[in-house]
Amino acid sequence: MDITIPALNNDPGIITAETSRHATYKVGVRRRTRQVNVGGIPVGGGAPISIQTMTKTKTSDVEGTVAQISRAAEAGCDIVRVTVNDREAADAIADIVKRSPVPIVADIHFNHIFALMAIRAGVAKVRLNPGNIGSQDRIREVLSAAAAKSIPIRIGVNSGSLEEDILEKHGYPTPGALFESAMRHAGICEDFGFRDVIISVKSTDVKLMIEAYRLVAERTDYPLHLGVTEAGTTRVGTIKSAVGIGTLLAEGIGDTIRVSLTDEPEKEIEVGKEILRSLSLASRNVELIACPTCGRLEVDLFSIMKQLEEKLERVKKPVKIAVLGCVVNGPGEACEADIGIAAGKGVAILYRKGEVVRRVKESEIVAAILEEVEKFQPES
Ligand code: SF4
Repeated sequence: MDITIPALNNDPGIITAETSRHATYKVGVRRRTRQVNVGGIPVGGGAPISIQTMTKTKTSDVEGTVAQISRAAEAGCDIVRVTVNDREAADAIADIVKRSPVPIVADIHFNHIFALMAIRAGVAKVRLNPGNIGSQDRIREVLSAAAAKSIPIRIGVNSGSLEEDILEKHGYPTPGALFESAMRHAGICEDFGFRDVIISVKSTDVKLMIEAYRLVAERTDYPLHLGVTEAGTTRVGTIKSAVGIGTLLAEGIGDTIRVSLTDEPEKEIEVGKEILRSLSLASRNVELIACPTCGRLEVDLFSIMKQLEEKLERVKKPVKIAVLGCVVNGPGEACEADIGIAAGKGVAILYRKGEVVRRVKESEIVAAILEEVEKFQPES
């Protein structure tokens, strides 16, 4: 079956990874997409890239779930997804929505009743593939309910659960197969006149997800939710997510991200924030840079950085701080940051936007930087 692309490009046909090879991306230029609103958080259309996580509690455990959501929000999370996988979870969702400090997304597979209950309960988005919930009437009911509340739907395609006919046609999960599945579900939404759609085409295979997202990015204007699914333990998952999500973001692709780790949601947020910071996409976060240290090091940089990391963890300012360990390479690099330190023997030079502010003793470096952060006014 050929694919009809519902958004920007009406060229039908089977899309393969090869078709994306000719695309050119400009580093630093964000892809233009339509914008959707997730409980007050704009996604796409040039909005800041939001960070999501998913709770790991039983949703029916309202206390535990709300506590986890609150910790994730405190860590800087913008949107939290909870599974609505059974009747108890569907019954609990209204309470969770009421008590959550951030917008809640209901994750639903197959059951349109749970989707309707979640929408009634006030969720800000539903993750659901319309082609999986059965009859046209059910699809119409869910999409109408979402439209009435102005909430978007995320179509979440996963290489591990592709439709049988698509798998048969492509042989195995290919970028074209993920793309085709996403377009099938998106096409259903478009047929019902429902356009508030976000798409994800995740895989545990980093190269596969990169190519699949590139296809959707080239052919449509849907905002994209990026993720490497089941990325794994903190160490492996962090690296896989940084490579997969980071590659796409560097190409201007991606509007909201979720790092999946076999770890607490706060850890996922921490890694997500770091990915955004590394590409200067974290509009509200501190970017902390330090030299790797070498034999020229003249201060206890490890302790200074540890203290700064802890003290700046919750600060929401787009300020770039560079701390360099010696006077050989330090001044040049410290000058490029908003706040810089080039350390010497027991004493350091403090820079503000490339200008020398003053000398500070090694024991005062952390306090001096915190004072500068306090004074820092981002350019509007
Ligand atoms: Fe070594 Fe100085 Fe470079 Fe740090 S800034 S890595 S101490 S040369």
